[in-house]
Amino acid sequence: MDLHTVRSFRRPADRDELRLAPGETLLAGGTWLFSEPQPGTSGLVDLTALGWPPVEVVGGTLRIAATCTVAELVSSPLLGRLAPLVRAAADAFLMSFKIQHAATVGGNIALALPAGAMTSLAAALDGTAVVWTPGGGERREPVAELVRGVRDTSLAPGEVLRAVDVPLDALAAPTAFRRIALTPHGRSSAVVIGVGDRVTVTAATTRPVVLAAGRLEEGLAAVDCWYDDPHGAPDWRASVTATLARQVVAELRGAAA
Ligand SMILES: Cc1cc2nc3c(=O)[nH]c(=O)nc-3n(C[C@H](O)[C@H](O)[C@H](O)COP(=O)(O)OP(=O)(O)OC[C@H]3O[C@@H](n4cnc5c(N)ncnc54)[C@H](O)[C@@H]3O)c2cc1C
Repeated sequence: MDLHTVRSFRRPADRDELRLAPGETLLAGGTWLFSEPQPGTSGLVDLTALGWPPVEVVGGTLRIAATCTVAELVSSPLLGRLAPLVRAAADAFLMSFKIQHAATVGGNIALALPAGAMTSLAAALDGTAVVWTPGGGERREPVAELVRGVRDTSLAPGEVLRAVDVPLDALAAPTAFRRIALTPHGRSSAVVIGVGDRVTVTAATTRPVVLAAGRLEEGLAAVDCWYDDPHGAPDWRASVTATLARQVVAELRGAAA
């Protein structure tokens, strides 16, 4: 849709030009930004102009740029054994392949919707968010903690999610993926991803929940953030998540045996 309040559009050449003026908002793929009115926004600053490599190996981590599109991530040759898991996460989106060519990993995480499949993936892989702070500094935080709730992150005004760093160990770990939705092509009601001994629940909860495979029942019993929306009641989500999580742990154990 047209954003009638927008009067300016900038394509920053470097980090200095990334500093936001009052009323300016970061633009990534624009798939959400242009989907509803943005009354407080008078200018857009296009992150994609910075030309960050979508996926690269940097200092012992797999670095996924915030501007990496879902399609670029799925097709990256650097994923190795992670490729099927990344494909499964991308397929968990309620979006077509056309949208996947525009929607970015960073935009998905910054938006912090429970059914944010790139949040699910990044949290499951123990990804660390690299955040550029407005004063020129940088801070790092696990993606599983950066996303705090529905449309709620730790990102302060002016902060830019630069990348998600994934430990290279994750590329060799056994993985398992389970998802359920109320209809075959519906929005995810629960997504459970196992990587190594880490079980991550999203979509069923308001924020990512990371459980230890070895203490699954205890972990599930302690979850206090089951999500309630038209895609599933909290008690149903808790029940199906427990089933999916047990399947994930069984699959991880089978792969390790
Ligand atoms: C048909 C359709 C289906 C969809 N299905 C889903 C779904 O199943 N699950 C889901 O979660 N979403 C879904 N979405 C919403 C949205 O498209 C995705 O969340 C997408 O990944 C957002 O990425 P984007 O690059 O388009 O972000 P944009 O729309 O460009 O930006 C989204 C928000 O994040 C901010 N932002 C973007 N990048 C950064 C950054 N690097 N640092 C800080 N802030 C940033 C922007 O300022 C804006 O507030 C869907 C959208 C459509 C149109």
